[in-house]
Parts: sequence; structure tokens; C-alpha cells
Amino acid sequence: MAQAQDLRQAIISVADRQGPILSAYLSVNADIPENQGRTYLVRLRDAMNDQGVPKDLQQRVRNYLEEEAHPAARTLAIFVDEDDLFAVYRLQVDIPESFRWGDPSVAPLTLILDEYEPYGAAVLDAESFRYFVVSPLSSAHGEEEVKANGFREIDLHPSEPYPRGGGSTDLDPAGRKHQANIHDLYKELGERTREITFQEGVQRLILAGPKERTAEFRRDLPNELQERVVAEEHVDIGESEGELLDDLEAIRERAEHEREKALLDEIRERGIRGPDETIAALQEENRIYHLAALWEMEAEIRWCDNDQLAIRDVTAKECPFCGQNTRGRPLKDVLVDLAAARGARLDFMLGENENTDVLRDEFGGLAGLTRF
Ligand SMILES: [Zn+2]
Repeated sequence: MAQAQDLRQAIISVADRQGPILSAYLSVNADIPENQGRTYLVRLRDAMNDQGVPKDLQQRVRNYLEEEAHPAARTLAIFVDEDDLFAVYRLQVDIPESFRWGDPSVAPLTLILDEYEPYGAAVLDAESFRYFVVSPLSSAHGEEEVKANGFREIDLHPSEPYPRGGGSTDLDPAGRKHQANIHDLYKELGERTREITFQEGVQRLILAGPKERTAEFRRDLPNELQERVVAEEHVDIGESEGELLDDLEAIRERAEHEREKALLDEIRERGIRGPDETIAALQEENRIYHLAALWEMEAEIRWCDNDQLAIRDVTAKECPFCGQNTRGRPLKDVLVDLAAARGARLDFMLGENENTDVLRDEFGGLAGLTRF
């Protein structure tokens, strides 16, 4: 996980900077209706004005973003100061927008780096093999190019040339030889896949290609990799790279949907639900390790900046712990800060689907799994 280490270092160095710094978390997810027509550029401009970001700095940020018609991300995390800092991170997860000109705000980044796993996708047929990784968080200027939907391609360097001459049947000797070659190749590629999967910290592996090939490849995979396979799906290997990456993203989204559904099922069985109970368990009892929160939640909650605590009594203008003034904050923002501080994973669920229906109607928008 060399990349994760580099990112951690970069985030620490941002966090250690003396302000003022612009920390902006900007939603650029094209699937969210509010982002139609790149309206996020308008929101960013207004937010930077509200925060009093110097004009020349605003211009540099806008120039950077306007160049990129389709940011390969759901959220951009931007850190800029008047000195030499200009860092943009691509997040493949949705987190609440926030903008701050002052002390650096890195809690959402550390949350994502600690809690979300990269996906790997092995794409194969008889004559080719490619491995893509999509990380929840990547630098905009990494060594490898970030392609559509946030995928990076890993360079594989197979030691043997790929077997040639498909099309033979299993009955003739040439066909059998060809089959044996493929078997050997897949064994070798399986080993390579294992190395890369561990190196990149991939927990969830997608196999894609013609059905008979992925099935064979899967059979030859080392055991510890078989457990990580979350989807095996047919894709047309002849399609363009753009189409291929769209297919992989669709497969990844289905796998994510299944993962979220499993999380909600587990919460139903042994978790806690409802904003009040969940926040108490997260903040005061410190026993939540995984949260599910509805993206469309509009609720506000009181917050004490001095204690970094949510105050659950909505009428409390003064903090019951330290007596200082409290302020109202969107519950979603507070969840990010509390989850980062308490080491809980936080899954925001978006859109209209069976998962968000359950989360809204059955769990009151917020629920979690507890350690004890
Ligand atoms: Zn307080």
C-alpha cells in the first residue's frame, strides 16, 4: 500500500501547516442532480467568497477546476494556501461538502484513508490480462494516470508471452496444448494478482471477462484471493477502454450496493438505530465501529467547538460541559468529525433504492454496529 502511505504523509503535512489554508470538499459526483451542468463551480465560488478567500487564490482554484470537464471523482478535496500549497485529492466516495479558510480541515480525508478499502478488477480473456484498482482516495498527480471512474491500471509484466491461436476445440491436440498453456498462464497470473492485491490493499476483487475464462481463472486463484472475489461478471473484452471502465464501475456499484445491504441486515439483527441512540453510542459510549447514514438527511444538531462534542439537547445554547456557546451544524458534518475522532467507519447511502428506503423508513436515517 505504498500509495496509501504517501497519501498519509501528504495529509499529515497539510494538517501541520499554519493557516490560513483553503480546505474545500466539493461534491462533483455527476449522478447527484445538484451537480448537473457543473453547478459545483458556482457553489465553490460562492463558498470561497463567503469564507473571504483572497481573490488571486480563488482564481487559481477556479482555473484548475474549469480545465477538467469530468473530474474522475465523486468528491474533490482541495487544499490551497498563499504559499506553495496546491493539493487536490480525488475521492471515490460521497462526503458532505464543506469549505473553510483558516486552519486545515483534514478529518474527512483521514476517515476515508483509514476506513475504505480499494477495489481491484482483474480483466481477462485467453490472450490478455489487465488489473485495475480504484482507491477511495487518490492524489490528482500520482505516478499512475487516474482513468475514468477513478480506475488506475497496474503494470503487470507477465514473464511469458500470452498463448496464441484460440478457436481450436478441446478434442484436437493443438487445442489441448492451448488449454494447458492457458492453465499455466492463469496460475502464474493468479500469483501476480495475489501480489498486487496485497500490495494495493485490495479487499474486494472483481473478475471480468468471458464467463468460461473468469470461471477458470477463479478456480486457479490462491485460496486467500478466492475469499476476496465479490463479483464475477461477463464483459466484452473487445470494447473500448471507456466502455470497459464504465462496465467495471457498474459492477463495482452493484457490489457496493450488496455490501451496504449486508451492513443494514446486520444492523437490523444486532445494531442500534435512530439519530439520538446512535450519536449517544458513538460519542459518549464510544462503541460504534460502523455507521450507516442517509445522504439526504437535512437535520441540524448543536455543537460545542471547545469540546468538539455534539450537544443532543437542541435548545442548549450553552454547552452543559464547559458553558461556552454552542452552534448549529448539519448533522452530516458532525458525523464526519465524530466518526474520524472515534475511529468509526461511516457509510453515506445515496439515491432512491431499497437501501436508502430501509435506512430512512426503518432506521430514522442513522444507524450503526457496536463493538459491545
Ligand atoms: Zn463545551
